[in-house]
Amino acid sequence: MQMNTKNHQIIIDDITVEVVKKDIKNLNLSFSHPTGRVHVSAPLRINDNAIRLFIVSKIHWIKKHQSKFDNQERQSEREFISDESHYYFGKRYLLNVIYHDSKPKVEIRNKTHIDLYVRLGSNQLQRQKVMTEWYRYQLKEQVPNLIDKWKYIVGVEINDWSVKKMKTRWGSCNRKNKRIWLNLELSKKPIHCLEFIIVHELTHLLERHHNEHFKSLMDGFMPNWRLYKEELNRFILPCND
Ligand SMILES: [Zn+2]
Repeated sequence: MQMNTKNHQIIIDDITVEVVKKDIKNLNLSFSHPTGRVHVSAPLRINDNAIRLFIVSKIHWIKKHQSKFDNQERQSEREFISDESHYYFGKRYLLNVIYHDSKPKVEIRNKTHIDLYVRLGSNQLQRQKVMTEWYRYQLKEQVPNLIDKWKYIVGVEINDWSVKKMKTRWGSCNRKNKRIWLNLELSKKPIHCLEFIIVHELTHLLERHHNEHFKSLMDGFMPNWRLYKEELNRFILPCND
């Protein structure tokens, strides 16, 4: 039986729960905004097993709340101001805007914050531009290794690839030029989503259409592709940038 009064985390089903033990009588579940983190405050004498069971009993409610939260996030237009939440490879971060008299830059801090350094007096568009270029750079950093890995598995060669903003597609493939395009928004999704799109586009070099042949090829290359597809389809592509 633990008598731990420190904060610790319990992870269940991809949900990270911050647990705080206090001198209270009942277990309490709450969300923090705008991060959407899940917190449980628990009586001092309760053990982790009981806390786990409590979380599991609420899992449906937690997921419902989180997806509602995600929807709100998706619909709100970003202003690129402090305390706004922004996604980076599938994780939510709080933006912290720092105005300085030097070159703009972006840094991840403590796995929780994105520090956006911009020039004094920068407006929304200028802040957005710094973020966009950072996302583009980060996405481009990930792509070469993934393409190298998957072109051998799929058994194709490509001549070129690029990242661009696309409004309706996560990726596209030009079979004639053997070139693939990747949507810049993939920098905000979990890395396996980027990987799935790369495999999908490479597979188009073997099969043009989304037919049974295409699906069976995908099954062979990446057995979980349907899960990743579903995950991406839950996101609505933004049309404001
Ligand atoms: Zn396709």
